[in-house]
Amino acid sequence: MAQLKLSGVKKDFGGVEVIKGVELDIEDGEFVVFVGPSGCGKSTLLRLIAGLEEISGGTLEIDGKVSNDVPSRDRGIAMVFQSYALYPHLTVAENMGFSLSLRKTPKAEIDKSVLQAATILKLEHLLDRKPSQLSGGQRQRVAIGRAIVREPSIFLFDEPLSNLDAALRMETRTEIAKLHRDLAATMIYVTHDQVEAMTLADKIVVLKGGVVQQVGAPMELYRNPCNAFVAGFIGSPR
Ligand code: ADP
Ligand code: MG
Repeated sequence: MAQLKLSGVKKDFGGVEVIKGVELDIEDGEFVVFVGPSGCGKSTLLRLIAGLEEISGGTLEIDGKVSNDVPSRDRGIAMVFQSYALYPHLTVAENMGFSLSLRKTPKAEIDKSVLQAATILKLEHLLDRKPSQLSGGQRQRVAIGRAIVREPSIFLFDEPLSNLDAALRMETRTEIAKLHRDLAATMIYVTHDQVEAMTLADKIVVLKGGVVQQVGAPMELYRNPCNAFVAGFIGSPR
């Protein structure tokens, strides 16, 4: 059984349909990458999966339960944004432990989880800093650390590397790939970078205008793109 099953999923905003009947199965532990041009609905799909928006048609199943029955906080999902979205007045440690403190987790337990995540991301020496005292790459690692601390079964990444320079993009990409191997969690990752998609994905989903164009392993899409649009995005140059 797929961990996430989208059947004819639709979303409209004020009568304008932006997600137009998406069919998609995502298995436990898969690394799935959504690619497509700006405005094609990538972020909206992530927000529907996270429960930050309600679907307006079709069904979305999470571990076999229809999404309407599973409130956002019970979906076992953590999201990492391009903009980091850290609390400026909190330290790195407080930012990372924030969701646990909301759940009234004992302080010693929070400290332990935060230190574990900080160690994975090489942030141990920065725990007392404020976000303003960090580089862009460090801030993004804190945002990833904050997601890890929540121990989600599904990570959603929305263009997490877009604000980083080329060297940092590559380094952080490698870290995310390692994280996926180590945590064995499901990851859904939005990017418009072909190299990121090709290197990270078990499965790529190509979107255009709220419609899935093709779903497949990177090499499958690269060798056999189903149309010129997919070829333009990830197909082999002709
Ligand atoms: P992407 O992430 O692929 O760039 P989005 O999912 O952000 O695309 O947006 C898809 C379409 O939905 C765009 O046309 C966008 O303007 C529209 N859209 C997204 N969120 C809203 C909203 N809250 N209200 C109205 N329109 C929205
Ligand atoms: Mg987006």
